[in-house]
Amino acid sequence: MPPLPLITAQTEEKLLAFLTEHGHTKFRVQQVMDWVWRKRVTSFDAMTNLSPGLRTLLAENFRFHSPEIVEIHGSADTTRKFLTRMEDGSLVESVIIPAAAAEDGEQSDRITLCVSSQVGCAFGCKFCASGLLGLKRNLTTGEIIGQILSAETIAGKRVNNLVFMGMGEPLSNFDNLEDALEIITSHRGLEIGARHITISTSGFVPGLKKLAAYPRQIRLAVSLHGATDEVRDQIMPVNKKWPLSQLIPALEEWGRDRNQMPTLEYILIKDVNDSLKDASQLVRIAKKLHAKVNLIPYNTVEGLPWERPSEGRCRAFRDAVHKARIPVTMRYEKGHDINAACGQLRLRKEKENNEGSPGCRA
Ligand code: SAH
Ligand code: SF4
Repeated sequence: MPPLPLITAQTEEKLLAFLTEHGHTKFRVQQVMDWVWRKRVTSFDAMTNLSPGLRTLLAENFRFHSPEIVEIHGSADTTRKFLTRMEDGSLVESVIIPAAAAEDGEQSDRITLCVSSQVGCAFGCKFCASGLLGLKRNLTTGEIIGQILSAETIAGKRVNNLVFMGMGEPLSNFDNLEDALEIITSHRGLEIGARHITISTSGFVPGLKKLAAYPRQIRLAVSLHGATDEVRDQIMPVNKKWPLSQLIPALEEWGRDRNQMPTLEYILIKDVNDSLKDASQLVRIAKKLHAKVNLIPYNTVEGLPWERPSEGRCRAFRDAVHKARIPVTMRYEKGHDINAACGQLRLRKEKENNEGSPGCRA
């Protein structure tokens, strides 16, 4: 028998359908969600304003489960990265970024969580640790939500900003992502505003089209990393299937009727995409899309040949984009020393576990 579904993975709509099917009123949905998301109980027995019959019905159809927190790296006032083990043994990494650790020194109570959407990634970008082990599977809605709950346990605070920039390509796990977003944004759920959520994509065009049709004003970041097909083809296999001639119109479609600028993420990799010519090509795309640009000097990954350009070269690139009046930021990946770049912690742990195993492709 498959395990019961998690109560923390139920959208209001799904819970309503279940409860009305069993003869209960809409009001019960509100009560159940209040116990789960406001009072944060972890058993149906604790839902004391529900009848014993309803508590039994819930317990026979749903369950609570918290993933096991395997490792935590970093300290409370800096970036903290943690690894959780799913019920099938899969390892998932997430990163807590307090506002105090932000480069702009912004003083606020903002706590950002970088979440994973898949175990590994099928897209195989040549510079990325997440792609190295291939895709193991999609994360379920409950596992996506579970990372937020684990982060709140670790931080002792509510997460109020989310970025889907951990392992995996979120837009290729759209159905589970969509349910997770419903629970995350619902005022009866985690109540994080859509404008405090960013989805990052490497340019998976079919998923972008679904996101364009999605009604909530979720923010979008695009891992561009190359402003020509020539550069993108070299480092991102996704570009072979969905080249810039398809990606750019899909981004324009996303931007239509939306009062939002997408962010173009651009990792600076030495001698691959860091010339001033690259900068002017990037400017052209940013202008067309009314986008802002976020430059990320490459974080080296053990076993991969790519290098970070010198600081001077990174600055010259940034200045060229800035001069063209494109809003631009340059951030060094937080927690470089704790393997904070996407997929690196899991990669190390999997290597430890699989030393010598023929299944390990790293
Ligand atoms: N798959 C999605 C979501 C992951 S986001 C996407 O690619 O957008 C993770 C971000 O970190 C992406 O922009 C990715 O390109 C970037 N990244 C991956 N490896 C990196 C590295 N070694 N150094 C800096 N950034 C890296
Ligand atoms: Fe996957 Fe994104 Fe890494 Fe590319 S950069 S391999 S799409 S996680």
